[in-house]
Amino acid sequence: MSELVVVYHRQPFERTIVDGEEVLRSHRSPNGIVPTLRGFFQYFDRGTWVAWSEVPDDQAGKVVSREPIAFAGESYDVAQLGLTAEQVTSFYKITSKAALWPILHSFVEKFDYDAADWRTFREVNQLFADATCEVASEGAVIWVHDYNLWLVPKLIRQKRPDLSIAFFHHTPFPSSDVFGVLPWRTEITESLLSCDRVGFHIPRYAENFAAVAKAFGGAETVRRYPVHERLRPEGWALQESTCVAELRWEDRRVMVDAVPLGVNVERIQETVQSQKAQDRAREIRAQVNVDTMLFSVSRVDYTKGTVEMLDAYARLLERRPDLVGKIKLYLVCVAPAPGMRVYDEIQSEIAQRVGNLNGRHATLGWHPVELFSQPLQFTELMSWYLAADICWITPLRDGLNLVAKEFIAAKEGRDGRLVLSEFTGAAVELDAAILVHPYSARSMDAAINEALTMPKDEERDRMQRLWQATRTHDLAWWTREMLVRFGVSL
Ligand code: UDP
Repeated sequence: MSELVVVYHRQPFERTIVDGEEVLRSHRSPNGIVPTLRGFFQYFDRGTWVAWSEVPDDQAGKVVSREPIAFAGESYDVAQLGLTAEQVTSFYKITSKAALWPILHSFVEKFDYDAADWRTFREVNQLFADATCEVASEGAVIWVHDYNLWLVPKLIRQKRPDLSIAFFHHTPFPSSDVFGVLPWRTEITESLLSCDRVGFHIPRYAENFAAVAKAFGGAETVRRYPVHERLRPEGWALQESTCVAELRWEDRRVMVDAVPLGVNVERIQETVQSQKAQDRAREIRAQVNVDTMLFSVSRVDYTKGTVEMLDAYARLLERRPDLVGKIKLYLVCVAPAPGMRVYDEIQSEIAQRVGNLNGRHATLGWHPVELFSQPLQFTELMSWYLAADICWITPLRDGLNLVAKEFIAAKEGRDGRLVLSEFTGAAVELDAAILVHPYSARSMDAAINEALTMPKDEERDRMQRLWQATRTHDLAWWTREMLVRFGVSL
C-alpha cells in the first residue's frame, strides 16, 4: 500500500532481454514526462507508479505485477496494469491523439470525432482507476498525469472517497469555446472537478480551465491571486495578470495550480561538465565546420511549427546568399511510434521541405540542413546543446517546452541564443529569449535575423537572465512545491 500513487500511462523504463535476462533501460523514444516523474522519485521514495503493460487477452484488466524498483538512483514500486494491444492502440494512439490532442492545442480542424472510440477510452480509464484504488493506502495522495487519463479522478472518487486526488496537465488547456468542441465535455469536466487539485504549467491554462469548469460544470471561482512578476511576460500572448486559485463545485473545493515544470538542472550540469560530453561537443563542432550552428529538437508533430521554421530558414537563405557554407541547421525531429497515423502528413511535409532546401541551396561539401529522425539519448543531446550557437524552437502551441529549458541549463549561463515561440508555456518564464510569433513570416524573419546579429554582451546578458530563471525553478523546486501543496512531506 502506498501513500503517494503516481498514475501515468507509460512505464518509467523499458524492459528488454539481454543474455536471456530481463534488464531495465530508459525509453528509446523520448518524452518529457517520464524523465520528469522519474526525477520526482529521486527526491521522494515512498510511492507507487501505475502504468500499463501489454499482455495477452486473458490477463488484461488487472494488476499483473507490483514490484519495488531501484533503478538509476530512483526507488519506488511499479504496478503494471495489463492491457491488450488493441486497448492501447485505441485509447492512446487513436482516441487521445486524433480527438483530444488537437483540441488541447486548439487545432480544431484536426479534431477527428469519427476516429475516436470513447467506449474503450472510458473502459481503459476505469481499469486505471481500479488499479490505483487497489494499490493506494487509506488516505493516500493520488497524482494523475495527463489527458489520456482524464476520466480517472471521478472513477476513483466514487470508489474511494478517502483519497486525495490531484491531476497535472503537461499540455496546454484550451479556451471553453475550443474545449466545447469535445462531445464528452461534461463528463471530462466533472471528472476534473472531482479532484482536490488540478494543475497546469501556467496561469493562462488555469484560467481557461476555470472558464470550462464554469461553462460545463457550473463551478464558481472563489479565490484569485495576482500573478507573480516572474510569470508575466509583459505584452506577450500568454500573459495573465491574475489567476484562479480555488473553485467551488457542488459541495467541494477544488484548488487550481499554475506551476511550470522545471528541468533536472543537477543532472544536466553533471552531464555537460563530464569529459564525455565536453569531448563529444568539441567533436560535433569540428565536424559541423560552419560559423553558425543552428539546432532544433522536437517530435514530429503539427503543433511544433517545424514547417514554419523550415520556411523561415528557406527565406533566410534566399535573402542572405552570403550565409551559404557558413551556417547549418541540425534538426532533430523524432519520428512517431508506429501506428500514429495522425502524424503521417506532417512527417512527409517536413521531409519534403528539408529535401527542397538541400536541393536548392547545397554546394559541393555543404548542405543547409541535416535531419535526424532517431531520438538522441541524454548525453548525446546535451553535447549537441553545448555545441550549438542558436537553439530555434517555434511551436504553434506547446504546453511548456522542456527543450528550451534544457538548452539554457546545458549552456549554464554562457554564450548561446534562444529563439522561442511566444505560444510555448516556457515563454512565460523565459521572456529574455528572442520571442517569436510563429504564424507571422515577418516575425520569424526578424527573430532569426536578431539571433544572427546579436552583440555578444546582449547575448550574455540574456543568457544570464534565462539561466537564473531556469536554475531557480528547476525540477527539485517543482517537486518540493507540488509536495507541499499535496501536504506530503519529503
Ligand atoms: N528528447 C530526447 N531526445 C530527442 C528529442 C527529445 O531525449 O532526440 C527529450 C527532450 O530532452 C525533452 C523531451 O524529449 O526532455 C521533449 O519534451 P518537450 O517538452 O520539449 O516536448 P514534448 O515532446 O513533451 O511535446
